[in-house]
Amino acid sequence: MNANATMQIVRSIAELQNILNTKQRDGRTVGFVPTMGFLHEGHLTLVKHARRDHDIVVMSIFVNPAQFGPGEDYEAYPRDEQRDAELASTAGVDYLFIPSVKEMYPHPSSIRILPGEQATRLCGASRPGHFDGVLKVLLKLFNIVDPDESYFGMKDAQQLAIIETFVRDFNLRTTISRVPTVREEDGLAKSSRNVRLEKSERNEASAINRALVAGKKRYYEGVPLQEVEKIVRKAIENETSGTIDYVTALAYPSLNEGFNQTEEVIIAAAVKFTSTRLIDNIIMSTIKDEKNV
Ligand code: AMP
Repeated sequence: MNANATMQIVRSIAELQNILNTKQRDGRTVGFVPTMGFLHEGHLTLVKHARRDHDIVVMSIFVNPAQFGPGEDYEAYPRDEQRDAELASTAGVDYLFIPSVKEMYPHPSSIRILPGEQATRLCGASRPGHFDGVLKVLLKLFNIVDPDESYFGMKDAQQLAIIETFVRDFNLRTTISRVPTVREEDGLAKSSRNVRLEKSERNEASAINRALVAGKKRYYEGVPLQEVEKIVRKAIENETSGTIDYVTALAYPSLNEGFNQTEEVIIAAAVKFTSTRLIDNIIMSTIKDEKNV
């Protein structure tokens, strides 16, 4: 792949809107990939989809303070703008939007967006207010970019489910596309936070995906979900030094505790290591069929 020599870095909201308004008036479609940067293959796969489907590809890089709680890793979140710009350009991004915190939040806002039940489970339980912050920045970004289609990774399955509800409930113009999780060779879900693992933790961390895959297999063999949760939890406990935040099975995408055949099932896990917390998940059909194993 050749670098997109024409990729433009834009830091001002007004400038980006100016550029995109003109192009959109000419009937060109926009695919959008919001990120917090420190790009990896997962982010670049979202770009690949956007590049395939749309005339213009916009990526944003913004480490959004509104979605980090006190004591979380906002300051320590890895950042490397120059490397990100090279990777984004090579992947085919046309406009890389990198606003400052001041540009996005010039004054304190007294209006909050409060997601419902879906945001109280899994990461929402251990990170209160996290999804409020995610929706706040996304509403702004969707209004700034006005994308035809926005791409999100299944690694953050709860986030994706909440965003789908948000877009549907508020008639936002963008459509949302789900992109499967991109993994390292040993199965660990790619994440900007993986660099914050100690070496031994990095080796152990592949056990999370292995445990989820084993859990899926047991589920399709007919083991009840509560048992499957225990099996996955035990495997992670035995094979890593991390502390489990949760291992939980829910209906997907509603994230309800009750299951029905119109939805899939997610087993989601969050594990805390010394300096970082990792999440992963696996999706299963509620219809147990050998073909699914
Ligand atoms: P982040 O920069 O972590 O906020 O992620 C930006 C987008 O990339 C989100 O839609 C994530 O779900 C997605 N993403 C992050 N990691 C992966 C991955 N390993 N595979 C696919 N998508 C990912």
